[in-house]
Amino acid sequence: MSNKKVLIWYRNDLRFHDHEPLYQAIKENSLIIPLYCFDLRQFQTTSFGFPKTGNFRAQFLLESVHDLRQSLKKLGSNLIIRTGYPEKIIPQLVKELLIDAVYFHEEVTAEEIRVEKALKKALKPLKVQIETFWGATLYHYDDLPFNFNNLPEVFTSFRKKIEKNSTINPTFTVPQKLPSLPNIELGNIPSLEELELEKPQFEPRSVLDFKGGETEAIKRLNNYFWQQNCLKDYKETRNGMLGADYSSKFSPWLANGCLSPRYIYEQVQVYEQERVKNQSTYWLIFELLWRDYFRFISLKHGNKIFYPSGLQGLDIAWKKDQQRFKLWQEGKTGYPLVDANMRELAATGFMSNRGRQNVASFLTKNLGINWIMGAEWFESILIDYDVCSNYGNWNYTAGVGNDARGFRYFNIPKQSKDYDLKGEYIKHWLPELTTIPGQKIHEPWKLSQQEQKRYNVIIGVDYPRPVVDFFKSVKSNERIYNNAIEKQ
Ligand SMILES: Cc1cc2nc3c(=O)[nH]c(=O)nc-3n(C[C@H](O)[C@H](O)[C@H](O)COP(=O)(O)OP(=O)(O)OC[C@H]3O[C@@H](n4cnc5c(N)ncnc54)[C@H](O)[C@@H]3O)c2cc1C
Repeated sequence: MSNKKVLIWYRNDLRFHDHEPLYQAIKENSLIIPLYCFDLRQFQTTSFGFPKTGNFRAQFLLESVHDLRQSLKKLGSNLIIRTGYPEKIIPQLVKELLIDAVYFHEEVTAEEIRVEKALKKALKPLKVQIETFWGATLYHYDDLPFNFNNLPEVFTSFRKKIEKNSTINPTFTVPQKLPSLPNIELGNIPSLEELELEKPQFEPRSVLDFKGGETEAIKRLNNYFWQQNCLKDYKETRNGMLGADYSSKFSPWLANGCLSPRYIYEQVQVYEQERVKNQSTYWLIFELLWRDYFRFISLKHGNKIFYPSGLQGLDIAWKKDQQRFKLWQEGKTGYPLVDANMRELAATGFMSNRGRQNVASFLTKNLGINWIMGAEWFESILIDYDVCSNYGNWNYTAGVGNDARGFRYFNIPKQSKDYDLKGEYIKHWLPELTTIPGQKIHEPWKLSQQEQKRYNVIIGVDYPRPVVDFFKSVKSNERIYNNAIEKQ
């Protein structure tokens, strides 16, 4: 054991496997001091007044931190827990424990960078070594096959260049044993109550009983790839909305860093050797590239991803209609596909990718509401909230992303028929519509008076009338969009 004491500051990287800061410290034979800080700024409210970290997300985070602590304990160490500002807590620990170095994974967006900068400033007089690592993406920043300033703006071009000219690094090995901690108060993981959040109720209709932590992440991967053998069909099933296995559901673990994308990549390679290599096995990696893309784009463009005008700087006259926003948020728009998805989100903290695209399109292209309100609601509630993927995708769907090709919208009634032909998903979340037979469920506002009576669904009483006319609202928001384009 060297005499070097290294504090590992855990952030959105709550895992053992493929963890470079930990690997590096172990390689140097250092005494390792792992720390997690619950930063209270993350538990305030968003600009539109939602809890910044809502209860689903907070619960997943608490479980993930707990799991990390258990894993560290098994290897002879432990996780120090503190609640407060990392830029205050870390320097105190440095002084108290005579720490020589602080290692952590760097982040790319404003709030996180602000904390990193404040920490570096506070540590400067203490003359401690600071080392930061890049660790959230499949492809490493240093391995990008272009100068960062020339990072392609359009996904396809980014993907093609990176696939052709770069490689994915192997994962870092998992430690087998860790040195014990010096004598220090360990601190407790706060409860939801202490974070002023209510315990979420488990919803039996949920796609999965999501539990935070690396242990559960690996379990899910083993289940999806190896036990259920779902990967071979991923490309065909990934646009589903109902059930545990239409897609991987890896996102909450990826967002908290409980699962490394490079580990997924390695497992896909083994699967391709041992089971089958096909379009589906490739497609999972393709989707993970979207995740990389949004992270790199967020780094490149800084705060622009958070502006209502987005990466394109399009000055759209967004509405801030609170009443209509509430109807969207609560799943009461009168469009069953939108409502089913929004109710799933509110009840479980999760929604499929197909659902997210549709509800985001409806909010921005039909209701013309400021997409930031939608993005903040997602930020609050999604258990897989990832700042780059969330704001990046919202930019994209709102038509203000850097690759926007004019005013594009999702035809919700058509999407409903295409992706939920028998209305099973709708019925799962909107029990008031279960009596409507066949395709009629996709457009209940078209039911005649007689049909409404027969199916016991009175539109405007048992289920809302559409909040807007679909095509008229699209046209009117298209005009607003085009005005913004002309002004540019
Ligand atoms: C408006 C909107 C907001 C979104 N917000 C988030 C978010 O906060 N966090 C988040 O992880 N994803 C977000 N997504 C992307 C996507 O919907 C989720 O990653 C996906 O639904 C998660 O389910 P899964 O893990 O089963 O996905 P799978 O289909 O199994 O995909 C595997 C992995 O690929 C990545 N991925 C897939 N699609 C995308 C995508 N469009 N963008 C970025 N990464 C992708 C995810 O890491 C995902 O876990 C958002 C999409 C939209 C349209």
